[in-house]
Amino acid sequence: MLPLHSHPSGRHFLQIPGPTNVPDRVLRAIDHPTIDHRGPEFGELGKAVLAGMKKIFQTEADVIIYPASGTGAWEAALVNTMSPGNKVLMAETGHFATLWKRMAERLGLQVEFQAGDWRHGADPEQIRKRLAADDGREIKAVCVVHNETATGVISDVAAVRKAIDAAGHPALLMVDTISSLGSIDYRHDEWGADVTVAGSQKGMMLPPGLSFNAVSAKALEASKTAALPRSYWDWKEMLAINPRGYFPYTPATNLLYGLYEALEMLLGEGLENVFARHRRHGEATRRAVRAWGLEILCQKPEEYSPALTAVLMPEGHSADAFRKTVLTHYDMSLGQGLSKLADKVFRIGHLGDFNDLTLCGTLSGVEMGLKQAGVPHNAGGVQAALDYLAQTSRPRPDQAQAR
Ligand SMILES: *Cc1c(COP(=O)(O)O)cnc(C)c1O
Repeated sequence: MLPLHSHPSGRHFLQIPGPTNVPDRVLRAIDHPTIDHRGPEFGELGKAVLAGMKKIFQTEADVIIYPASGTGAWEAALVNTMSPGNKVLMAETGHFATLWKRMAERLGLQVEFQAGDWRHGADPEQIRKRLAADDGREIKAVCVVHNETATGVISDVAAVRKAIDAAGHPALLMVDTISSLGSIDYRHDEWGADVTVAGSQKGMMLPPGLSFNAVSAKALEASKTAALPRSYWDWKEMLAINPRGYFPYTPATNLLYGLYEALEMLLGEGLENVFARHRRHGEATRRAVRAWGLEILCQKPEEYSPALTAVLMPEGHSADAFRKTVLTHYDMSLGQGLSKLADKVFRIGHLGDFNDLTLCGTLSGVEMGLKQAGVPHNAGGVQAALDYLAQTSRPRPDQAQAR
């Protein structure tokens, strides 16, 4: 008997800061028969996506692709470079930095965690001081999260590199760009990162299931003597076969079709345009939040994330009840507050496959939800965003040349 299920009309708005909305082009690319990953056709695909990812990381260095979530690529970064008992310095920027720390400890590393208030990025000066005081050169790596997805705060990775160099310290620099790669400017080579960790489901616009390491020559050298046990994550086997476009075990073939398409989209738009688009949508979102009279979690304007905005709920109001209202009334998912921010913040994802009108729809859903849920706020947030978007509007990159 029809209908079996009721269907909400229109698209669901997946405005969590990852996974993000997957473009139709990418979905269609994935929807093809799986091919022999050791056959002649596959090698070309493998070579193309590995080369394309180097452009995204802005690197000439090796890039590794895992069939795994971002967490797997975190583990790969550590087990390929570290030995049991090694000391690593990490910055407490929020929930994701805390999870990476927990993983490092579980793997048998000694973590020094520089305390943070979850409203600021990593502090390069504090890192420099700690490294300068490390006479025995016991710290083997400095690990920072570029875009802390729990808070909407970015860390200045180039400044962290300068801090390590200023201390004359040999520690490796490892960076989590899981929610920034493909949406926020990130330069593996120029900023001197040794291992950069990324994932498929945020700025890269793919479904979850792929993750990445970009690996500097120095990190590769460290991997030769690193003694943590590893097998699945071993860079060596990957790098031995990747130049021919193949993988040592079955890759996520269909996700690689999608990656090829996503690379075409991002590189076709131009990375500079992609980054500018995200910065502009971040600014429009913050203008809306301020007009509502709500507080942005990130405290320093130079650390505002172009990919998401975390918004503090007014005292006595539940962020989760508000999010539930938005979901049930407007079919939009907003990001929840994580661990110590649970129920205190909601997060608006404005990254990935996103344009001015997607942002307008997103902010409209937030403003209507605030009203519906009885959250004290001023009207006019959406209007403030519209004004900014209209003032700063330019032809789409694909239309700029058109007459
Ligand atoms: C999403 C995210 C992770 C976790 O990645 P998974 O794909 O869920 O394993 C780690 N770090 C940051 C900054 C993230 O945004």
